[in-house]
Amino acid sequence: MSIVSPSPEIIAEAARFLRGGDLVAFPTETVYGLGGDATQDSAVEKIYAAKGRPSLNPLIVHVGGREWVAGIAEPDGRFDKLARVFWPGPLTLVMRRRADSPISKIVSAGRDTVAVRMPDHPVARDILLAVKRPLAAPSANTSGKVSPTRAEHVHDGLIHPPRLVIDGGACRVGLESTVLDLTQHIPVILRPGSISREQLEAAIGEVREGLDDATAPKAPGALLSHYAPGLPLRLNAANPEPGECFIGFGPVSGAYNLSPAGNLDEAAANLFALLRQADNLNLYKAIAVAPVPQTGIGVAINDRLRRAAAPRNTG
Ligand code: AMP
Ligand code: MG
Repeated sequence: MSIVSPSPEIIAEAARFLRGGDLVAFPTETVYGLGGDATQDSAVEKIYAAKGRPSLNPLIVHVGGREWVAGIAEPDGRFDKLARVFWPGPLTLVMRRRADSPISKIVSAGRDTVAVRMPDHPVARDILLAVKRPLAAPSANTSGKVSPTRAEHVHDGLIHPPRLVIDGGACRVGLESTVLDLTQHIPVILRPGSISREQLEAAIGEVREGLDDATAPKAPGALLSHYAPGLPLRLNAANPEPGECFIGFGPVSGAYNLSPAGNLDEAAANLFALLRQADNLNLYKAIAVAPVPQTGIGVAINDRLRRAAAPRNTG
């Protein structure tokens, strides 16, 4: 697996691989994606195999323009408003599939819906425009583990390597997209992200918080492990216990800090890289993370931290 810098030649090569049914990892503004042609069953099967992802967990389809959506799904007026305000950007919209949608049914994991987003990253956009096909692209890590926010993180994170990893540096947002289900009368946030409920409501009116049923716990009160580092994680820690790697937030002393200035956007961008670093140091037996305010993107940070700290009961 080679990590390469983007150039017109590399984008053309990536497009050839993708059209041929192979996988390419590329940067988006959220995390690195493991991309495959969403219209080819065999390419989509390779994504599930490379991640060890349960086949019931559907994938997000990435598009190169708002106008691509009409051929894939059944967008409504709320889609138009949201796409105008938030696309390209970290907002995934779940809609009904068109009856003649070219998207592989495996992408939808047996549902009659499809999740679509238009990424805001020049490399992702250039690849989509060169392939001219929608790409399924979940995070480029093994299922349930920490998402990659730098090209070199893709290296240690997959069961089968992709043909290429394109290096776009550190991801700007650093957390996965907000997922909004538009098939409900009142839209439901299935996964919090950097685009907040308040921002969505300003665009389309009432929005509810819900549970992503593909990754939700089957027992009430339980929490499904996801985004998990190798080490156990302790939340809302004031200080480290002996043997713990302490990750601070705001003006506290220590080598590791999500954002010394207490900036939540910066904390989101640093979260996964710091969890990975604490793991890889091989110096600690656990990680302790300081409290993060539950406002704005802090809601998404705390969602990832709670799942990362949950009992490790899944792959
Ligand atoms: P990932 O690709 O790992 O970023 O995860 C995509 C998320 O979007 C998962 O949590 C899925 O459950 C959710 N998702 C994707 N497609 C659908 C769909 N058709 N209906 C509901 N949720 C979906
Ligand atoms: Mg993921």
